[in-house]
Amino acid sequence: MGLSLPMMEHLLIDGDRRPAVSGSQFDLTDPATGQVWAAIAAGDAVDVDIAVQSADRARGHWRKVNSRDRTRLLLRLADLIRVNLESLARLESRNAGKPIREARDEVNLAADCFEYYAGAINKVGGQTIPVAAAGTSLTFREPVGVCGLIIPWNFPIAIAAWKLAPALAMGNTIVLKPASQTPLTALRLGELALEAGIPPGVLNVVTGSGAIAGNALVRHPLVRKISFTGSTEVGIQVMKLAAEDIKRVTLELGGKSANLIFADADLDLAVPKSMWSVLGNAGQDCCARSRILVQRSIYDTFLTQLTQQFQSLKIGLPLEESTEIGCLISTAHRDRVADYIPMGQAEGATLLWGGTIPTAAHLADGAYLVPAIFADVQPTMRIAQEEIFGPVVCVMPFDTEAEAIAIANDSFYGLSGSIWTRDIGRALRVARAIETGVLSINTGHSVHLEAPFGGVKRSGLGRELGMAVLDHYSEFKSVFIAE
Ligand code: NAD
Repeated sequence: MGLSLPMMEHLLIDGDRRPAVSGSQFDLTDPATGQVWAAIAAGDAVDVDIAVQSADRARGHWRKVNSRDRTRLLLRLADLIRVNLESLARLESRNAGKPIREARDEVNLAADCFEYYAGAINKVGGQTIPVAAAGTSLTFREPVGVCGLIIPWNFPIAIAAWKLAPALAMGNTIVLKPASQTPLTALRLGELALEAGIPPGVLNVVTGSGAIAGNALVRHPLVRKISFTGSTEVGIQVMKLAAEDIKRVTLELGGKSANLIFADADLDLAVPKSMWSVLGNAGQDCCARSRILVQRSIYDTFLTQLTQQFQSLKIGLPLEESTEIGCLISTAHRDRVADYIPMGQAEGATLLWGGTIPTAAHLADGAYLVPAIFADVQPTMRIAQEEIFGPVVCVMPFDTEAEAIAIANDSFYGLSGSIWTRDIGRALRVARAIETGVLSINTGHSVHLEAPFGGVKRSGLGRELGMAVLDHYSEFKSVFIAE
């Protein structure tokens, strides 16, 4: 299978690459250069219907593939992802503008994910339940049916794998709708699934806009479940539409996570890790700890050290090995992020560093932004409340533990967060008090394949990853046998 850079990309339906029925396509722009480098089929409701019908036909066969064979198919897919690691990472890096080193990690994570859920297939099942009546109560764990998986542009292959692997493991069939900005690795995953031996129709990929193709998928009556990752605004629309025919829904949405640095924290670790917990993927990360709360006695020291670290970052072309900060997904998105700079200043925050467009000639046509630090931020400011989804961090002081918790919880969101302290009692106390789905103590990272991941409040509904997600891709059928 060739993985060379494409010029024209078709949909993947029922095992075939085919153009949209309407013949429509849209251009894909390289965010690092501003050049158009591919044309992508623009699927609409007609294509979505054909893809869903194909997934519906494949259901009967796929759910009956025995657990050993399904495990082997997912393991083979994981192997193929690793065999093609470099070409997939380069494709992702170029498509999303992310540093090649980050892209390799994400492709590896996708392979790890298929391995994990391949291993889960023969370890989950139903139960026998001691009911009061005379007889035996059994539960069968059954697939939900056709699942519509809608993914964003920030971690395209990783988030596709988070949804595909457990959905396939539980015997569901799929229509995958990648973000229009980043359709390429989703299409490659679909091709690799076929190469691994997963039957045609089990995994279909429809590219196109969210408003047309995504919307048609959410509305389709044969789709039994939608798993959506994206913005809270679109998540609300998806949930409303899904309610019309009681589709199962999982939502992974936005965030504005808090990073609490207490005075006894190990700053040699806390400063660089705090920086990377905002600047990974140029800040386009739902888990970005973009509000840093620092205890007042170390506030100035922390800011000095953080600023030094920001000043030494290597901003560069995504495919260069030494690049630490790539570009944003598009110049339109970069400009939206950059608008927060004058907004924060007008609100009274102090811009300590960054927020400018780099002047180097080789970056001139790309969607770049120098990562920015705002100090003296008040919790009520828009820059402290809204998800900026770019390389902008807000730093604010606090005096007491109670104040830090109150600021952290003063958000519509509740996805992620960190606590830095050497006091284990405080770490656990604060961890319990923060309203969020995932948290890390003395590290900036809390996404683990093996543990449930997701948000509370407007950050989402349901969980991805771990064994917990398998319940979202299964229906329990209770069967009672009278004695
Ligand atoms: P988005 O909501 O604009 O788009 C997400 C996906 O939904 C895309 O595939 C898009 O085409 C599709 N879509 C758009 N409108 C639709 C509609 N009306 N009906 C159905 N589908 C539609 O989000 P984005 O800009 O791609 O991603 C950034 C957002 O995603 C941020 O808010 C970020 O925090 C969030 N995100 C959350 C997580 C998480 O796990 N919680 C992970 C990554 C990103």
